[in-house]
Formats: sequence, C-alpha cells, structure tokens
Amino acid sequence: MKEKISIIRKSIAFCWKNIMKYSRFWSIVLIAAALISSFSILINARVLEKMINALSEEAISTKIYQLIAVWILSVLAMNLFYLLNKYINIHINAEMEKNFLPDVIDKYNKLEYWQYECSENQDLFQHVNASSYTDIVSVLNISINIVSSVIAVIEVICIFTWAVLWVGLIAGLLTIPLVYFCLSAAYIEMKQRWTMTKDIRKRYYFQSLFADKNALQEIKVFNAKDYFINESEKLTQSINNDLKTNIGKVTKYKLFFTMTICMFTVLVICVSSEMIIAERLQIGTYAILINSIAIFARSQQSLSSNISTLARTSEKINLILAFFELDETKGSKKTEFCGLENKLWNDQKAIEFEHVSFSYPDSDNIVLDDVSFSVERGEIVSFVGINGSGKSTIIKLLCGLYQPDKGTIRINGVDITDMPNEMIGKALSVVFQDGQHYMLSLRENVGLGNIDDMQNDNRLKDALTAAGVKDLFQLEKGLDQNLGNIFEDAVDLSGGQWQRVLIARAFAGEADMLLLDEPASSLDPIAECELYHVIHDVLIKAKKTSILISHRLASCILSDKIMVLKDGHIQESGTHEELMGNNGYYAEMFMKQRSWYQ
Ligand code: ADP
Repeated sequence: MKEKISIIRKSIAFCWKNIMKYSRFWSIVLIAAALISSFSILINARVLEKMINALSEEAISTKIYQLIAVWILSVLAMNLFYLLNKYINIHINAEMEKNFLPDVIDKYNKLEYWQYECSENQDLFQHVNASSYTDIVSVLNISINIVSSVIAVIEVICIFTWAVLWVGLIAGLLTIPLVYFCLSAAYIEMKQRWTMTKDIRKRYYFQSLFADKNALQEIKVFNAKDYFINESEKLTQSINNDLKTNIGKVTKYKLFFTMTICMFTVLVICVSSEMIIAERLQIGTYAILINSIAIFARSQQSLSSNISTLARTSEKINLILAFFELDETKGSKKTEFCGLENKLWNDQKAIEFEHVSFSYPDSDNIVLDDVSFSVERGEIVSFVGINGSGKSTIIKLLCGLYQPDKGTIRINGVDITDMPNEMIGKALSVVFQDGQHYMLSLRENVGLGNIDDMQNDNRLKDALTAAGVKDLFQLEKGLDQNLGNIFEDAVDLSGGQWQRVLIARAFAGEADMLLLDEPASSLDPIAECELYHVIHDVLIKAKKTSILISHRLASCILSDKIMVLKDGHIQESGTHEELMGNNGYYAEMFMKQRSWYQ
C-alpha cells in the first residue's frame, strides 16, 4: 500500500509539473472556475434561504427580486466549472499535445538502443504512444474534483452548523465513518484492479492477435481459433470471479454509506419538521437543510470515485514516468562535429575493428571476442557464419547503436565514440534485416534515405532502378502511390518488393559506405542470386565500401573478401577461391549448402 501511495504522490507531482510548464494559463483558469463553483455552494444556500423566507412573508417586497437575481448568479457560478470544463480542457489538451509530445520524441531519440530491443519496455512505449498527455490532463481534472469535493463537504457542514448547530455537529462526526466507507469501497476496487491487470492484459493480447495479419494467417492454418477463444474465456471467467468476490465487499460499504445518509436524512427531516411546527425554524432554513443533505452525500461519493480513478490513472502515469527515467545514451559519445568531418575523407582504412569485444547489456554471452579486421575503401566484404554467430551485431556496433565493451571501432580513421550519430549517418547507409515498411508513399519509403532530396524524382527513380524495382513507377500514382494496407488507395507489396524498396532507400542516400544485413532474406534463391549480382554491380559502379551479411554463401562469391565468423571470432578470411582452397570451415559450409540445391 505504501508503495502505491508513493506512486500516486509521484504521479500527481509529475503531472502538475508538466501541466504548469506547458499549459499554465488554462490550468489556472480551470482551477479558478472550480474554486468559484465550489465556494458558490455557501452563497447559494444563504441566498436560497433568504429568498424562501422572503417569499413566505405575507408582504412580498422588491427585495425578493434582488434575491432572485443573486440566486440565479450563484447558480451560474456553481455551474461555472461544469460549463467551462470542456472548453478549457480542449485548450489544455492542445497545448500539451504541442509541447509535451516533443519531449516524448526527444526522449525516444536519446534512448540507448538496447532499450528498444528490451521486451519489458514495449509496454512503456505502447502506453506512452497511446495516451501520455491525455492521462496527464486527466490527473489535473481528477485532483481538481477531489479538492472541490473536500471543499463542498466542509461548506455543507458549515451550512448545517449555521442552520441548526447540532445538525452541523452530527454531520461533522458522520463525515469520519462516511469517508471511511467511501475510501474502503474505493480501496477494494483499486486492489482488484491491481491484481487483475495481468489477466486483463493477457486477454487483450489474445484479442489483438485476431487483428494482426500475420498472427491471423497462422491461427487459420493451425486451426488455433478455438484455442485462443477458450484461453480468453478462461481469463474472462477468472476476472469475473474476482469481480464477483469483490463486488460483494464494495456493495457492503456502499450500503453502510447509503444507510447512514438515509438515517441522517430522516433524523434531520423529523427534528427540523418539529422545529418548524414549534416555530423555532424558518421555512427557508428548513429548505437549505434538506437541499444540503443531497450535496453532502454527492460530494463524498464523488470524493471516493475520484480517488479510485486517481489511483488507476496514476498507474498509467507511472509508466510514463518510467519511460522518462530510462537510461539515455551516455559515455563519451560526442554531440558536435568538432571539426572531425575534415577527417572523413582521408586515406585511412574505411572501416576498422581493433580487438573489439562485446556482450549485450544484461547478458553474459560474449558475442564478439577480441575481433579485429579492416575494410579498405571501395572494398566489398561479406560476413558469413551460422545464425547467432554475431554478424548483425557487427552492423549494430558500426552504426553506433551499441558501444563495444573493449577495443576500438573506426570509420575513415575516426573512433566512432568520437562521432556524433549524425556523422555516422552521413558516413554509412544501412539495410536492416527487419527494415521498416512505412505505410506511406513510395516516394517517402525511398526518400527517407535522403530526406533533402525527397522531391528529386530522378534520384528516387535511379535508386529504385538500381534496386531492381523499376516496375514500381508503373503504379497508378507513380512515386506518390501509397504503399501498405492502411490507406484505402494503398498498394501492398510482396516481401521481395518491400526488400528491394529498403535497398533503394539505402541507395538513395549519399553515404559512401553501405551495410546490408541479409538484404535478400525474403527472396527465393534465384531472385536472391540476381539481387546480389545487382547489388555488386551497383556497389562496384558507385565505388561504395560495403559490408554484406548473408546466410547464403553463394551470394558472397562476388565479394572482394569474405570473413567467416564462428564462436565470436573471425575463424577465416579471404576470397572465395582462397577459402575453398583452405578446405576449412567455410569450404565445409559451402559444400553443405551446395548439396541442398543438387
Ligand atoms: P547473426 O546475425 O549472426 O544471426 P546476431 O548478431 O543477431 O547473430 O546475434 C549474436 C548473438 O547475440 C546471438 O546469440 C543472439 O541471441 C544474441 N543477441 C542478439 N541480439 C541481442 C539482444 N538484443 N540482447 C541479447 N542478446 C542478443
């Protein structure tokens, strides 16, 4: 419980800090409206009392009109928060969207790359993307509602005391058990939510599988529909059982609350009616007593439901807080060019690994162990090895996504820890194995490789031609054709076509070096072989220094040099002919693969 309270406290502080930073004016207007509405209860009661008393007098004076006018004003003031709430919230949401979302994007940019690969963080990312600023605005509204409810309860006790002293005293005393009943009901509801969250999330995951194209096709093929429906039903049953057990306890507290309010109401009505008959109470005072009982009960109920909502929303805010607390890129990474760009095109080797060792964060597995190699300018080098031998890791290290534990990596003679990310991005272009298929136009899909030249049709067409997908210009809207399956007019591409679009994206850039990580993994062997010939042609013509990664050894025959990775080391290196002549690990793998096709 202590931990949960600390979460709520931290969340409120975080939300208020951001709201005051980004939407101070409108938040203050909202708070002012809420305060005016809350404090108007007292004025409204006082005027209502006088108005009814004046109406009940035999000779109605002109004073009554003034009282009616003041009463109408007080009713308006009481409803001010309700009237303006939506309008003000639109402004607050707009300001938060404008100012807070860039903070989120900035944080994403600063995150260490491994944070993206960590499955535990996926929840945080999903939540931050879905509803970060709306939850922050909710906390503002909920906290205002809580304060308003507390003020209303205190005011009503004052109204009671001032009308009939002992009613005020009883109301004051009753507040303690009434608040206890409300908070107990809220606490049970909160606790139930905390324990059910895992089941609810799992059920949500099962449901989302039916909306996922890839999952759905497997579910159909494997006839797994009934399995997932049954699992989902089991979870629903367990959630419902929990709900049933708790609803009894919640209802018990709500019943105590209602009974206490009913007894209090009956007591007030009986005794005050007696007092009216005995002419010890005026009719106006009687009216506000009865009227205030409803406000008294409503405010306490609102207090309880808002506290329960606050606890629920705090958990979501806690995810946003955890997101902002994620480690940012640190170490000696520079953020400025510091004149290093002049060094980029000197006579140094294009790429150098010097005694590089690396393990992934939170893993004891040494993926690269004292690896050294170099790539000359204009050279095409292939890395081969079985799955998990560390080929993609070399690419990730070269892109600066991870820092080596030991050793030095240089691009054009510059240690990459001295190179800002922008500079690495200028020096090399990459086709990742699982590169992004943007559900955007063909132009954007290719042009993102060189944003400054996105409107240069010739350049984009050259890149597409080089990647072997010239036919995509023939699409109805040419380069402006939307791709994917989100937009109505979009055209979805085959796996192979998408892969070539990714390659075109890399070709569209001006980088002098190209890293291709299994660029043909979605293609059949013949198309893969053709693509590698195309890639080699383009790379040779463009004199680009390149690193190719492929699990199919036949695709490396054309490379200037082949590096064979095994158990975190470079086992062998040389041209295809040299390695076959060595009759070692490479030759063994090559013969094995060749036998598959014979
Ligand atoms: P390859 O490209 O040769 O198939 P990788 O470089 O992808 O191999 O992976 C090398 C090793 O590092 C594998 O054992 C893999 O399980 C591990 N690995 C890859 N990515 C991560 C990661 N993000 N966290 C922990 N281990 C990882």
